[in-house]
Amino acid sequence: MNYRKKFVVEPGEKIHLNKVDPSYTGQHESHEKAMPIMQEHIARMDKLQYLLYADGDQSLLIVLQALDAAGKDGVVRHVFSGMNPQGTSVFGFKQPSKDEAAHDFLWRAHQRAPARGEVVIFNRSHYEDVLVVRVHKLAKKSIWSKRYDLINDFEKMLTCNGTRILKFFLHISPEEQLARFKQRLDDPSRHWKISDADYSERELWSKYTEAYEDVLELTSTPHAPWYVIPSNHKWFRNLAISQIIADTMDEMGLKLPPTHVDIDTITKQFHAAEQKQAKLVGKERGD
Ligand code: AMP
Ligand code: MG
Repeated sequence: MNYRKKFVVEPGEKIHLNKVDPSYTGQHESHEKAMPIMQEHIARMDKLQYLLYADGDQSLLIVLQALDAAGKDGVVRHVFSGMNPQGTSVFGFKQPSKDEAAHDFLWRAHQRAPARGEVVIFNRSHYEDVLVVRVHKLAKKSIWSKRYDLINDFEKMLTCNGTRILKFFLHISPEEQLARFKQRLDDPSRHWKISDADYSERELWSKYTEAYEDVLELTSTPHAPWYVIPSNHKWFRNLAISQIIADTMDEMGLKLPPTHVDIDTITKQFHAAEQKQAKLVGKERGD
């Protein structure tokens, strides 16, 4: 199954999230059976990231957005486990600092955007400025409503500079969120993940859904598409996202850069060094 085609939001498409099944697992029957397939995707991502880094020409930006407990951290932990930390980074967007709030809303996102050769994952992102900001009325409508176009222009600019952008919305049901809240409550090692705001945010589910539906409709573009990923099953979420990333990277035309040296000359230098080393070892042994 081609999950890029299946889960992509077409530009301008209105998605009704309550009509998207968050428990979808396609033809995959179980975690165990899907695991080797996901491992293949992750291995492919790893190889392609090596080329992206070596090539140093393009970059990849991955945006993860979701309601609480939908699994953004889990995606970072599992899907990117194969990537080399050299050339990969994750940035979590929290409430803006004083300095960040004093600048335009894209300032902090732009600073963290990937340099050539890098993969950057945004755990939350500049989209919070049309999500939490809208739902909690942290800015006037006349301010946040202009941001969709500004985001599209920003992402277009990054794309023109060689950044490939993929955006994932992790879709879970309210029942699944509550089940995950319970797991957090029952497991002291996860208590640190519990926030004071978890239940008050949950009360705003329909407001967030509305805000997300607008984001998906207004900011999914050919160069920076949104994917709505059914995420009630963590293994399926990871499987679909890893496939979409690997398939996209496959298309980026990544290749090893040409060598900057004359390999014949270097080979001669190598043999000379090898002979010298052998003589040294011989001398030490007293041959
Ligand atoms: P977490 O992802 O659980 O660490 O929580 C980060 C919190 O920061 C979430 O409640 C976000 O909604 C909030 N946040 C992120 N960006 C913004 C923003 N631009 N304005 C206000 N709150 C934000
Ligand atoms: Mg949280």
